[in-house]
Amino acid sequence: MTSSVNGSDTAGADPMETLDKVAFLVRNCTDCPLSGGRTHAVPGEGNPQADVMFIGEAPGFQEDRQGRPFVGPAGKLLDGLLASIGTNRDDVFIANMVKCRPPDNRDPAPAEMAACTKYLDRQIELVNPKLIVTLGRFAFGRYFPGEGITKARGRLREKDGRKIFPVLHPAAVLRRDELRPTMIEDFKAISEILEGGIEDTGGETGVNAPTASEAAVPTAQISFVDPSGPAAVSTEQADTSTVNVEEASRPEQLTLF
Ligand code: URA
Ligand code: SF4
Repeated sequence: MTSSVNGSDTAGADPMETLDKVAFLVRNCTDCPLSGGRTHAVPGEGNPQADVMFIGEAPGFQEDRQGRPFVGPAGKLLDGLLASIGTNRDDVFIANMVKCRPPDNRDPAPAEMAACTKYLDRQIELVNPKLIVTLGRFAFGRYFPGEGITKARGRLREKDGRKIFPVLHPAAVLRRDELRPTMIEDFKAISEILEGGIEDTGGETGVNAPTASEAAVPTAQISFVDPSGPAAVSTEQADTSTVNVEEASRPEQLTLF
């Protein structure tokens, strides 16, 4: 065979050539001090060709135990939110800003996020999603540092050619039950964005997704967590307690793709 002109002699040499290779590197990574406290690194998982990628903050107690993202109480809520828009975690890709659990669930430090970003950068490149949904302020800050998530949430943005849709962190919604309707509305907007119903605004400002208050189905009737449960779940409880998550009702079938 004749030699290729497109660099085939280096093919296979990239240590982050595939998502599996990224995950392998993450599991063996010691590039920041968080490696010292982990039980399992949590590379992230999902559909390698997902249209939508969710970016969280960092593994918690359950994630560290299982090596999988969003498998504790916040993950149960995320599952319910995904179901409410007719999808599930096998259809999307879910990753975190840092791949190892910070001690006592403290905030990830800037140096830890800086050390870890190469993995998330590459996961985004490989999955190449149509939409990135940032969960909470740390993932939002990756794209729009210095802005507040409370004001920014629910507004489709664009950054470096990627559509970014910031929403609250599910753990924040577990702590503050009054945020639940907002979160449900923002997820409805995600499915509409993917169906092409909401255009981005080209960047720095964004507009509120026009869907939430106009939804045909009253979102208040969708409940993910037993409403008789405690309104406030502490971070500690959120790691260890079981939250009763009901099958989200699906009054209409919304398809993502
Ligand atoms: N919170 C996160 O930000 N990520 C997880 O994987 C779990 C909880
Ligand atoms: Fe490596 Fe990221 Fe884990 Fe730090 S958090 S050890 S950079 S994988």
